[in-house]
Amino acid sequence: MSENWHPTPDLGHLPILTFHAFATPASTISFPPSVLRSRLARLVKKGYRSIDLLDAVQHLRIGNPLPSKAVVITIDDGYESVYREAFPILQEYAMTATVFVTTGEPVGRDRSDRLPPVEGQPMVSWSELSEMVAAGFSIGAHTLTHPDLTRLPASSAKAEIVGAKAILEDRLGVGVRSFAYPHGKYDPRTRELAAEHYSCACSDRLGLLTRGSDLYALERVEMYYFSRPWVFNLLTTPFLQPYLALRTVPRNARRSWTRPR
Ligand SMILES: [Zn+2]
Repeated sequence: MSENWHPTPDLGHLPILTFHAFATPASTISFPPSVLRSRLARLVKKGYRSIDLLDAVQHLRIGNPLPSKAVVITIDDGYESVYREAFPILQEYAMTATVFVTTGEPVGRDRSDRLPPVEGQPMVSWSELSEMVAAGFSIGAHTLTHPDLTRLPASSAKAEIVGAKAILEDRLGVGVRSFAYPHGKYDPRTRELAAEHYSCACSDRLGLLTRGSDLYALERVEMYYFSRPWVFNLLTTPFLQPYLALRTVPRNARRSWTRPR
């Protein structure tokens, strides 16, 4: 996408925040609910609001400036704690999020309400997802089984990318237009598949959404690295971009052993 764009004025930037599960104590995938509440309270106090991922992407597609004082919130995997812990807190602050759901295999799938566990973790139920959709949350696809797509044969990668969309749309009755690569991993082939079937795809590249973003390898800001107050507070300052640039090198060096999923 970006390579076809002609130079235009800076359209601004905003962070796409990434969360996974919500629990105490904090871990590589768990963000404590009490910390979420205080961080959102600070964002709201500073005049920030959440905007939908697809709305943010649409601004870039048509060349509109991104809104200032805005964040996009994404939550990967679809753990039960998204509904139980984060949903009420986000609603308290009039914020919404895109939940990227790993649906489970379609073959032999029962019609039970709760999604099959991912790595032993309890997942959201279809009725909980429907309740979040009714409250203005968006649902994105995060494959059937959360594989590293770059290691799969082409036919399996396609089944993972396209199959999840079909299941989500069938069970929830809404269009699913956004995708997140499991583990953030993509290659030219998986990127092309995502571009064929979705309006945008999130990677785990650290950075901000800007007019230079690849809409099928969107940069995000992993909240695991932003739980401490002084780091989180950078989100509302001009120091965010330089901080992320500094983080990129050490993070890449560490990613093999501490990266969240
Ligand atoms: Zn994931």
